[in-house]
Amino acid sequence: MSILVTGGLGFIGSHTVVALIKEGYKVVIADNLSNSKIEVLNALENLTNETIPFYQIDVIDEDAVSRLFENQKFSGVIHFAGYKAVGESVNEPLKYYRNNLLSTITLANICQKKGVKKFIFSSSATVYGSNRVPFDETMQLLPTTNPYGETKAMCERILGDLVQANGDFEVALLRYFNPIGAHPSGGIGEAPNGIPNNLMPFITQVATGKLKELQVFGDDYPTPDGTGVRDYIHVMDLAEGHVAALENSKPGVHIYNLGTGKGTSVLEFIETFERVNKIKIPYKVVPRRVGDVAYSYADVSKAKRELNWTAKRNLEHMCRDAWNFEKLNSKD
Ligand code: NAD
Ligand code: UDP
Repeated sequence: MSILVTGGLGFIGSHTVVALIKEGYKVVIADNLSNSKIEVLNALENLTNETIPFYQIDVIDEDAVSRLFENQKFSGVIHFAGYKAVGESVNEPLKYYRNNLLSTITLANICQKKGVKKFIFSSSATVYGSNRVPFDETMQLLPTTNPYGETKAMCERILGDLVQANGDFEVALLRYFNPIGAHPSGGIGEAPNGIPNNLMPFITQVATGKLKELQVFGDDYPTPDGTGVRDYIHVMDLAEGHVAALENSKPGVHIYNLGTGKGTSVLEFIETFERVNKIKIPYKVVPRRVGDVAYSYADVSKAKRELNWTAKRNLEHMCRDAWNFEKLNSKD
């Protein structure tokens, strides 16, 4: 029996594949390569010394997913596949609703038909909207500011309704905070297409000289230094959170924040990156980015209590590993 990892060649999926195999799980990957490269499969096989079955399929294609479930027997599914660019979701909402909702419905439907009960879903801290920090899982969700966030909130509700109707389903909704960093080997990491939207990949590309300077989006937030505060989590900690969710899977729908519980401002982030990697990051302050909140950080007590999981790596490890990956993999 294997675990199906959809989106397993993407940033978080690939690191989770490594963590699963390290714990002795057999893994099958399904990915349509819409935001990843086939070379990641080779890197994963090198890192794990395993041959990993890979299916290049679109998870919204019901026939293709059905055929996959005929060929392989699964004890659980971790569903990472989806689109994630907030700004793009504002400009192309239907693309986001179609891919993120239909992939989740298709997979859950086939799991139901085939009796696969464990289902882990990639949700996001975005679903909290601009609630008061720290965000905890019992909070009533506020509307998010973009279609991407809405797809995550909707998928959570769809899976919740499925559990209402089928009490033996075991669903974990994992709300990620800000995953960054890379596997310490530098073999896999975050490699976004085009100009990065997120802080860490932008900074690593400024560090290589590929981008001239960082724009800091606003220094007039009601935070200690005026810049936005986020809960950055090392992607390997996040990956291990998925293993913990699988091992503690139980009937019902269970929501867990996966973060560190610690908030870091943009200026603190830059200072840490510069100190750890001994590189200057030129930046200038520009107006706020539309849709950003001042604060986002997690109450992590539930994951600790129920999954026996906490993040072990700090921001220094995240900065070191992200830069190591960029140096080994960037092409000019
Ligand atoms: P990613 O884009 O690196 O990985 C997603 C993978 O899914 C890619 O390899 C892509 O090719 C694949 N994919 C997309 N649609 C597909 C489809 N219909 N069929 C098959 N494959 C498909 O993204 P990531 O950062 O690894 O994020 C993984 C999941 O976690 C996403 O659902 C994302 O929304 C969620 N998430 C990410 C973050 C973050 O900051 N990275 C934060 C919160 C939640
Ligand atoms: N940010 C920034 N410049 C950038 C990218 C991000 O100042 O080029 C800030 C952003 O305003 C936020 C923090 O860095 O306060 C994290 O942004 P990111 O896009 O990485 O994550 P998210 O907005 O999803 O929390």
